Amino acid sequence: MQDVIIVGGGLAGLSAAASLAKQGKSVTLLERGQLGGRAVTLKLKDFSFNFGAHAIYGRDTSILQNLEKELNIHINWKDFNPNKAKYDIGHELTDVPANIKGLFRTKILKSTDKLQFTFNIFKTMISVEKGKEHVSIKKWMDDRHINDDVKKMMLTLASSNFFTSEPEKIPSTVYFNYYRKLFKTNKPVAYVGGGWQSLIQQFVTVIEENGGTIITKQKVDEVEVAGDKVISVSSKGQKYRAKEFIFAIPPKELKKVFESTTISHYMEHYAQYEPSYVFVYDIALKERIEVPYTYIYNQEEKMFITDISYYDETCVPENGQLLQAIAYMKPEDVGNKLTTEAIQNKIEEMYDKHFNGWRELLVVPRISKRAMAQEISWNMKQSPMPVVIPNLRNTYFSGDWCEGEGQLSELSFTSAYKATSMILEK
Ligand SMILES: Cc1cc2nc3c(=O)[nH]c(=O)nc-3n(C[C@H](O)[C@H](O)[C@H](O)COP(=O)(O)OP(=O)(O)OC[C@H]3O[C@@H](n4cnc5c(N)ncnc54)[C@H](O)[C@@H]3O)c2cc1C
Repeated sequence: MQDVIIVGGGLAGLSAAASLAKQGKSVTLLERGQLGGRAVTLKLKDFSFNFGAHAIYGRDTSILQNLEKELNIHINWKDFNPNKAKYDIGHELTDVPANIKGLFRTKILKSTDKLQFTFNIFKTMISVEKGKEHVSIKKWMDDRHINDDVKKMMLTLASSNFFTSEPEKIPSTVYFNYYRKLFKTNKPVAYVGGGWQSLIQQFVTVIEENGGTIITKQKVDEVEVAGDKVISVSSKGQKYRAKEFIFAIPPKELKKVFESTTISHYMEHYAQYEPSYVFVYDIALKERIEVPYTYIYNQEEKMFITDISYYDETCVPENGQLLQAIAYMKPEDVGNKLTTEAIQNKIEEMYDKHFNGWRELLVVPRISKRAMAQEISWNMKQSPMPVVIPNLRNTYFSGDWCEGEGQLSELSFTSAYKATSMILEK
């Protein structure tokens, strides 16, 4: 019998399998499709399109630092240049207050607001400000009569870091917990050189070199529970037994596979959660369009463009350029033909404004009208799923819908790390 079965081969499942295999556990990972999940890299006409910017926030405090050491993997970090980041405020571009210089120069805040904003950052860093339980960040700011421009600035930051069009709904405790860590970092944003694929390949190598088994195109469709333990998972008529199980599959899938068990009602609850969706519009160009910025954020439209190939030259052929636009979507926009068309037009206008001539240089676009950036969107009605539940003693859950640190992939990595640490401590 295997020590651990891991269901799901996204970043959470792969990182968990790699950590356990490295520590001498016998592991089998079952993935229904290709490895990588949402962290996919797609090759089109010599360009490597990564789903998402593969940006890691606060890499010097990220769990990936532990994984690099413990798994002996190497991430080719490409640090974001804050001097090349701009806000589009309609009539002009201004600095993003991503560092002291940016804060001093930005026109997005008046001098007095800059003081209030800095004071808030300081209070967050030294943990004086923690937010209030059951109070959203919007209500928290209203209660404290925070100045309108500072309020807007704090919400704009949250839009970018939480990938949401509704930052005002974030619980204030989640907001401050996140920024307490991020404000202390010296590396606010960094990209993974070589894209998601390089990271996935390294996890696979660690798993295989340490005797682990990976089976793709192997969809788990049923779980067998006896008492307070999972005893097997079934796929294509075959049963896989193990001492411990990690489920790194999203809540809607959990609901299906746990359907016939005594805890189906529990999965039902999380399956109803609303995710955070974004509109992604990548363009591959045969020649670079040189501009003095690599990141532009349009505060009104809540959309931004990143020059991915500036940071990761491996994703383009010689002289090529890969630009990525992301627009945060409201839940009601998802699947709505009219609003998604409007978003697409606005993104194209943004490309026209900042990368004039892109249409003539276009090799191939890649558009996703409803990309799920995070399985859980932050609002007062939703809280992340625990990594362990009392009903099941040998079962763990991980992914970007679970309790962990940070946002996006950091939630996947930290929840997976917590699951593996608990198994290893047993
Ligand atoms: C457009 C976009 C931009 C993003 N940008 C960033 C970014 O810049 N930085 C960042 O940190 N994060 C970013 N993210 C988020 C990041 O991609 C996710 O947080 C992360 O990939 C989630 O990994 P996961 O393993 O938790 O879940 P998933 O990737 O959803 O993995 C779940 C896996 O389980 C498999 N599975 C499901 N059901 C079954 C079953 N029954 N049997 C077997 N296997 C099953 C699925 O096929 C999948 O491979 C972005 C996401 C998107 C979509």
